[in-house]
Amino acid sequence: MPDVTRFAPSPTGYLHLGHVFSACYAYHRAGSGGRFLLRIEDIDQTRCQDSYANALIDDLAWLGLSWEHPVRYQSQHLGAYRLALEQLEDQELIYPCFCTRSDIMREVGDIHRAPHGPYGLLYPGTCRSLPRHESERRRESGVPYALRLDVQAALRRAGPLSWRDGRRGLVGVPTDGLGDVVLARKDTPTSYHLAVTLDDALQGVTLVTRGEDLFQATHVHRILQALLDLPVPQYHHHPLLLDPQGRRYAKRDRSVTIRSLRAAGASPRDILAMVDGKG
Ligand code: GLU
Repeated sequence: MPDVTRFAPSPTGYLHLGHVFSACYAYHRAGSGGRFLLRIEDIDQTRCQDSYANALIDDLAWLGLSWEHPVRYQSQHLGAYRLALEQLEDQELIYPCFCTRSDIMREVGDIHRAPHGPYGLLYPGTCRSLPRHESERRRESGVPYALRLDVQAALRRAGPLSWRDGRRGLVGVPTDGLGDVVLARKDTPTSYHLAVTLDDALQGVTLVTRGEDLFQATHVHRILQALLDLPVPQYHHHPLLLDPQGRRYAKRDRSVTIRSLRAAGASPRDILAMVDGKG
């Protein structure tokens, strides 16, 4: 069966060679019989800009990629994420967390000894056991909060879970070390984890391709699929494209944006040659 794949950048900067590698990977995996989608992951309005979204669409088209229309902009679908969040709230698997970063630091004590997950310090669970009336009181008082998934409770509900990665085969979801991830904030009804999981299901994506820096995030997505009764796609986490110094491309490294390469006279063919067969 041909696959439905997608490239899902966050418009927080100009497209760089690492993005092009990832986009081309997804594009080619859809092949001529499949479908390739582009999704703009612009939930974080403090970091995302329309001008970056427009620029990356323009760069991808200039490179010769094409995708189905309309492009899904996550910022236009907040209602869908809110509904999913309500489903999780109904299952009593979400709790409000009022901790600031300094509260968390104080709670964990020695930061170097505190448990870390793949994306940094694990939340110590301070607000998980707040009595309901106390959470309600704080919520009503207007203080900012995040909504966290009670991962242990979620895993107990879902039972053992696994997913399939194209390079590593069957991967089991670990029962600890994930931490209670943030799924939403007071004013934003979703986070990366919830939005990406829901959208891949709503858009019928059958093969999720992305960089291996997001490998561990897939455990969280698999848990959400189980809780929300969503289909489970195949995954392929590809190696990250490295620059000649062996460092991963990053948005802060302006020299390698497609914009700057275009301005310096590079053709689409030149740029595609830079990512061809890499990773
Ligand atoms: N929006 C994410 C990023 O730009 C990628 C999401 C994904 O491919 O799952 O890092």
